[in-house]
This record gives sequence, C-alpha cells and structure tokens, in this order.
Amino acid sequence: MIHIGCHLSSSEGYYHMGQTALELGADTFQFFTRNPRGGKAKELDPADVQHFQQLAAEHQLTQILAHAPYTLNPCSATAKTREFAHLVMADDLQRLEATPRQFYNFHPGSHTGQGVAQGITLITALLNAILKPEQTTTVLLETMAGKGSEVGSHFEELAAIIGGVRLQEKLGICLDTCHIFDAGYDIVSDLDGVLADFDRILGLDRLKFIHLNDSLYGLGSHKDRHACLGQGKIGLAALRQLVRHPRLREKYFVLETPNDLEGYRREIALVHSWC
Ligand code: FE
Ligand code: FE
Ligand code: ZN
Repeated sequence: MIHIGCHLSSSEGYYHMGQTALELGADTFQFFTRNPRGGKAKELDPADVQHFQQLAAEHQLTQILAHAPYTLNPCSATAKTREFAHLVMADDLQRLEATPRQFYNFHPGSHTGQGVAQGITLITALLNAILKPEQTTTVLLETMAGKGSEVGSHFEELAAIIGGVRLQEKLGICLDTCHIFDAGYDIVSDLDGVLADFDRILGLDRLKFIHLNDSLYGLGSHKDRHACLGQGKIGLAALRQLVRHPRLREKYFVLETPNDLEGYRREIALVHSWC
C-alpha cells in the first residue's frame, strides 16, 4: 500500500491536521513546527496531542513529518545565525517528544561562501550538539536543489554529514523529487541509476520520506520551484514510475505542490490511482 499525504497548516493543532489528512484520503502529513520564518512556537496543548494520538491510532496515521523553519541556516558563516538554528532545532526536538517516534526534517543550510567542506563541518557539529541518545524522533536531512550555496544537493555531501555524527541511528533522509531533479539527478530517464547511487552512497534504508513534487524548471537548473504533479519538467509518467518503483515500496510520500486542499485531494487521489 502506498503512503501518501501533503503539507498542512499547523495553526489549528495536531487533531485538526489529522482530521484534514484523513478527509483528504491521506495516511500521513507534514507541517511546520512553527512559523516558517522561525518565530516562537505555539504552546503545545496536551489535550490536542492526546486527541490526535487517539485519532492517529484508530486510522493508522502512523508516521508524520515535522518540518523545521526553512529559513534556519545551520551552516551560516555568521555565528548568531547558526546559534539561532541550534536553539530552534533543539527546542523543536524537545517538543516533538510529545508525539514520540516521529520524523523531523530540516534543510542542511547554505555555506554562504565558506565552501562545502566547512558547511558540512558546521552541520555535523550542530547535529552532534542537539541529538540526544534518549530522543525517539528521527531527524531527516533533506536533499537540496543546489540553489546558491546550499549544502546537500549531492548525495555524497549528505553522507559526509551523517558520517561525522555520533548518533547516526537518529538520522535519515528526506528525498525531494523537485530538488534532486534540480540538482541534476535524472529521475526522468534514469530513475534506476539515481536510486542505485542513493543506495550506494546513503543506503535506501536511510530514506524515510519522499517529498513528491514536480519541478517548474529543468534537470540541473538549481532553481527550487515546485510545480503541481504533471505541470512541470518531471511529468506524470516519471512521477508515477517513481511512486511505483519496487525499491520505494513502503516509503512515505508527502506532496509539497502549490495547491489548496482541493488540489491536494485531487493529487492524493491521482497517486492512489497509480498504485
Ligand atoms: Fe523542505
Ligand atoms: Fe521539500
Ligand atoms: Zn523546495
């Protein structure tokens, strides 16, 4: 069975997200832990969390994905910016223990001129500082498009980050189809080759979530502009093949396409019709 969901607003709490996901035909969802620009997180409501967990248990909403604010930069050249990423991510991880054994995705960041190697060193250091042996949340590094000085647009860079972390069992990967296509991985004409590379360099076991997006721009364009399924340069045939790929069976897919809820409902139904 395919696991598919979409990005949802967290402004009305966990239970509301769970209900919305189920109404859309989803069995997973993603949400921002706080304002994507990185403001203060809303106070957790224990009743809301408990209510959600009952709903989730009844309806097999077994895996959900929290997304860190995308403006954080764990490998900035500016110490203050790195410190802010550290504070926000440490706080997010603590809060996510209210919903144990879930997933937390973040963008590795942009080295802002220091070079990829220094970026990797800084991201590794941050992860070593915030990961705790007792945490139940798995932290996912997202594959990036390689826009500007983004780190993580090559599988090798993500592998190097993981390689420097002590608690590697707390880490996984979130593969974004728009981003890797943008980064130059040809999932349209050589999906098998791309997955073989991923497996050799990172291991497909590390792959916990897939952001299922089409890309407005072409292979290797480094633009990071998501498109609705079939309205970009990846196209429906390639996305369908990816969702149905035997090596991606059992993986969790989340749409981050430019949609309202009705658009998400249609895309979720479309993906279901492929499986
Ligand atoms: Fe992301
Ligand atoms: Fe993404
Ligand atoms: Zn993106």
